[in-house]
Amino acid sequence: MSLFIKNGLVLSSADAVPQIADIKIEGNQIVEVGQTTASNSDHVIDASGLLLAPGLINGHFHSHEHFHKGRYDNLPLELWMHFVRPPVGAEPLTPEQVYLRTMIGAIEALRTGTTFVVDDVNHAPWFSQDCIDAVFRAYQDIGLRALVSVSLFDLPFHRSVPFFDEEMPAVIRQPLDTQPPPDRDRLLDLAKHLAHQHHPQRHRVGYIVAPSAPQRCSDTFLLQLHQLAEQQNLPMMMHVLETRLQAVTAGLLYQRSMVAHLAELGILSPRLALQHCVWSTANDIEHLANAGSSAVYNPLSNLKLGSGQMPLRHFIQAGVNVALASDGCGSRDSVNMLSVVQATALLNKSPQTLPAQWLSAEEAFRLGTEGGARAFGYADRLGRIEPGYLADIVGYRLSTPAFIPLNHPLRQLVYAETGCAVDLVVSDGIAVMQHGQLTQINESALIAEILSTHQSLLRSLEASEAAVSQLLPYYRRICDRCRTVPVDPDIVTWDNHPSGSTA
Ligand SMILES: [Zn+2]
Repeated sequence: MSLFIKNGLVLSSADAVPQIADIKIEGNQIVEVGQTTASNSDHVIDASGLLLAPGLINGHFHSHEHFHKGRYDNLPLELWMHFVRPPVGAEPLTPEQVYLRTMIGAIEALRTGTTFVVDDVNHAPWFSQDCIDAVFRAYQDIGLRALVSVSLFDLPFHRSVPFFDEEMPAVIRQPLDTQPPPDRDRLLDLAKHLAHQHHPQRHRVGYIVAPSAPQRCSDTFLLQLHQLAEQQNLPMMMHVLETRLQAVTAGLLYQRSMVAHLAELGILSPRLALQHCVWSTANDIEHLANAGSSAVYNPLSNLKLGSGQMPLRHFIQAGVNVALASDGCGSRDSVNMLSVVQATALLNKSPQTLPAQWLSAEEAFRLGTEGGARAFGYADRLGRIEPGYLADIVGYRLSTPAFIPLNHPLRQLVYAETGCAVDLVVSDGIAVMQHGQLTQINESALIAEILSTHQSLLRSLEASEAAVSQLLPYYRRICDRCRTVPVDPDIVTWDNHPSGSTA
């Protein structure tokens, strides 16, 4: 199959000058950009009046949170996370319910300019192979590029915070502790199975190895998963140092930072992307730079949960590749990457630094495209509209208010509110949205099903939240206690420039 997109205003990359051009696509690959000819193309799209830009890459969200949108506010991670991963009171979903839950995030992603998502799905005890298949199927059906993981940990999740035995009363602790621990061998077999079934080198919707976080995994398990990723050439990701409490946890568990611990284990590599990295030391950043690992910046989720901000400029200056992400809808309430790119540029203009050191719209857009591509194994294959690249392209309608008048397409794409301007999406060479309509699914029918499914699950969701609420006073005591424990004084604050120069 070949596709010819003619007469669009092409912004081929963050640094390029937009120009009217045609794009020729063979199969899933861009073969020509410029004034070319449509002859022999199976399908022609007239992109007059559209700004054509590389699709955005969302480096991190959790589709199991899509039905939690708008339910929480003013809760730090260590309290909030129990609502979206309930250790008590959770009822199983059917594969069809999981499919619909996944689909609403996929729809929002495409409608807001994202063509590639990385979905880290909670592997609850009830989460069957059919449920996992349903997640992959949703992305396959809608036409989005995706990496899907099931979040892996072999230590009891509810114990991944310090002082658990001291602060959690026995009457609450014991029922939690009597739940069978995760079966490490079974999880490893599952990871091998998913790698075999959905290897990203062979599939648009592929598998990514995802140990949840160092404090939730034994070193043995981390090493086994690292070895699997190395042997089978898979991307890998992990949460690290999202909150101050986690920095305290690292000190208590390892007597050093989590990143230093991963470096010591030999796990850091170019295939590894670390989510959050908020509470990083200069030494941590150096470890990532030396190993070629990536960091994934989740500015809006980190703001919403009061976690702090990753010191982005320090990572960039050290040469660490950075991807951008929304994080899940339980924390951030949206998977809209246009707002994440915007926040990335806006947040990194600190009064503590010289304006010349502030992050520009171009830099933020590059992180949201090429940064994501490099972090997840698509360096030089995704994130630009150039011959040889995979054809993931978004068309924004220039007749929408955000682009009127048109002074600087890229800055308006980043700083103006352009979400409603998405008109055309080409993913893997297929027009999965045209004239604002999703072409691979019946969107209105699915939305109706999603709404009725959510309605049918509401009572069980509320019951689960009520059960979790009983635990929160004790987790709150743990949070409060951790606040009094000093953290490494070398942790870098986000609003100072690495050079130390100030305005
Ligand atoms: Zn996460």
